[in-house]
Amino acid sequence: MPSFHPDQVQVHSAHFIGGQYVAASAALEVRRPSDNRAYASLPVADAELVDRAVENAWQAFKTSNWARQAPRDRARVLRRWADLIEADAAQLAPLEAVGSTRPIANAAAWDIPFTAEGIRFFAEFADKEGGDVAATRSDQFGMTVAEPYGVIGAIAPWNFPLVMASWKIAPALAAGNAVVLKPSELTPFSVLRLAELAIAAGMPPGIFNVIQGDGRVTGDALVRHPRIAKVTFTGSTRTGSAIMAACAHSGTKPVTLELGGKSPQLVFADAPDLDKVARMVAGAIAGNAGQVCVAGSRLIVQRSVADLVVAGIAQAFQALRPGHTWDQDSTLSPIISPADAQRIDGMVQRSVQAGARIAAGGALAPFGGEGAFYQPTILTGVGADMEAVRDEIFGPVLTVQTFDDDDEALALADHPAYGLAAGVHTADIGRVLRCVRQLEAGTVWVNRYGRSDDFVLPTGGFKRSGMGKDLGRQAYEANLRHKTVLIDFAPESGA
Ligand code: NAD
Repeated sequence: MPSFHPDQVQVHSAHFIGGQYVAASAALEVRRPSDNRAYASLPVADAELVDRAVENAWQAFKTSNWARQAPRDRARVLRRWADLIEADAAQLAPLEAVGSTRPIANAAAWDIPFTAEGIRFFAEFADKEGGDVAATRSDQFGMTVAEPYGVIGAIAPWNFPLVMASWKIAPALAAGNAVVLKPSELTPFSVLRLAELAIAAGMPPGIFNVIQGDGRVTGDALVRHPRIAKVTFTGSTRTGSAIMAACAHSGTKPVTLELGGKSPQLVFADAPDLDKVARMVAGAIAGNAGQVCVAGSRLIVQRSVADLVVAGIAQAFQALRPGHTWDQDSTLSPIISPADAQRIDGMVQRSVQAGARIAAGGALAPFGGEGAFYQPTILTGVGADMEAVRDEIFGPVLTVQTFDDDDEALALADHPAYGLAAGVHTADIGRVLRCVRQLEAGTVWVNRYGRSDDFVLPTGGFKRSGMGKDLGRQAYEANLRHKTVLIDFAPESGA
C-alpha cells in the first residue's frame, strides 16, 4: 500500500552554505533505487565552491558564539534541533525513503527518531568533558584543555543517509566544531532538511554546511582543503584508503574511518533456540538488502546443526517482500542501482562456477518495475578463498561454512582483511569469553546481532574495517583536541 506518492516529494537541488541554500547548475542525475527513475539533478561543488563553504564555516567558527558560549547553551540548541527533526518526521521520512533503499516504515520508525536521539546523546556530552588538572609541583598549575578542532570535513555513504551523516556531524557539532558535510551523490537530499532545521533551532549560520557532489571532485577537494582540521569518513575501505592518503598529503590531518566489513556469525550447536537464531542470522544479512556495513555476511555454523539453521534462514527469507520504498508493506529493500544488482549477481554466479551451491535465492528478485531487487541468497559449499567469502558483497548474500570444534570456528571467523563486527550464538559462557577474546572485530555481539538503540557503545572496525569510533564517548572525544597548559605561580612572598 503506497504511503506517499514519490513524485510529490520535493527536493532542493542545491548546497547549503552559511545558513542558506546555494543554487548551482546541476551536473549529475539522481535516481530513485525503487524504480530507477531520474527524479532530480545534483550540482557538483568544484574546488572553488568547496573553498567558499569551508571558509564560511571557518568564519562562523571564529566569529559566532558556537564554540565560545556556555556548553549547556550549545546543548540546548542541539536538543531543540533533535526535537524539530522528530516533529518533522512527516516530511523527513518520505524525503529519506524516496531516494534511498530505506522503506518508509523503517525510515519513519527508526531512521528519523534514531537521528534525533543520536543528536541528543552527543548534546549531553557538551558540558561534561573539559580536560584534566595534572599532578604538578605545588608552585605550578598544569592542565589539559579540551578544545574543538575548528572545521571538520565529514563524508557520508548512501546506505543510511541520515543516520550515517548524524553519526559524523552530531559529535563534531556538540564538541563546538563547525562542519562541512558531503553526503553521497546517490542520496544527497535529506541532509539538506537537517541543515535547514539546524538554523530553525538556533544554530549560527555557517556552523553546519552541506556541499553536494561526487567523491573525485567535491570529496577530494574537501579532504585536501587546508582549513579542514580533521576528516571523518564512512564508506568503503578503498575510498577510506584514498582519503587517508589525501589527509597525509594535505597537512597530516587526523582522520576517523568507518569502513567495510565481512562479518561472521558463529552459531554453535548448544545455542539457545536455534529457530530464533536462524531468524536473527537472516535479519542480519537481509536488513536493508545486506547494504549494511555490519551485515552478518558469513555464517559459520557447527556441522551437526547446519542443515537445520540453513533451513530456518531460508524460511525467514521467504517472508520478505520486495517493494517500492514508498510502499508501507515493503520488507525487502531495493538494491541501490541496477548496476549494483548486476555486480552482486556476478559475484554469486562466479562463486557458483567455482563450486558453491545455492540453498536459497541466487538471482535478481522478480519485481514489476525498473528498480532492481536481489533475492536473499544462501551459498553453501564455499571455500575461504572464494570471492563471495573473501570480498564485501554489500547485498543480501550469506555464505555458509561449517565447523566441528571451536578452534576451527575461530579460524574460519578470522578474515585476512576485515574486522568490523562478529556474532556468537552459544549457551556456554566459557566459549563466549574465549570467542570474545580471540575474535579480531571492533564489535562482538553475543546471542544477538546488531547495535542496541542507546548510542552508548562505540562502533568501529579493526584491521581494514577502519580507524577510530562512531557513537559512544569515544566519538565525542575524537572531535576534541587537548591543549596542555603549564603555569608557574609568582614566587611566594619572602621566598
Ligand atoms: P564509497 O566509499 O563509495 O563512498 C562514500 C562517500 O565517499 C561518498 O560520499 C563518496 O562520494 C565519497 N568519496 C568517494 N571517493 C572519494 C574521494 N576520493 N575523496 C573523498 N570522498 C570520496 O562508499 P558507499 O558505496 O557510499 O558506501 C558503502 C560502503 O560504506 C561499504 O563498504 C560499507 O561497508 C561502508 N560503510 C561502513 C560503515 C561503518 O560504520 N563502518 C557504515 C556504513 C557504510
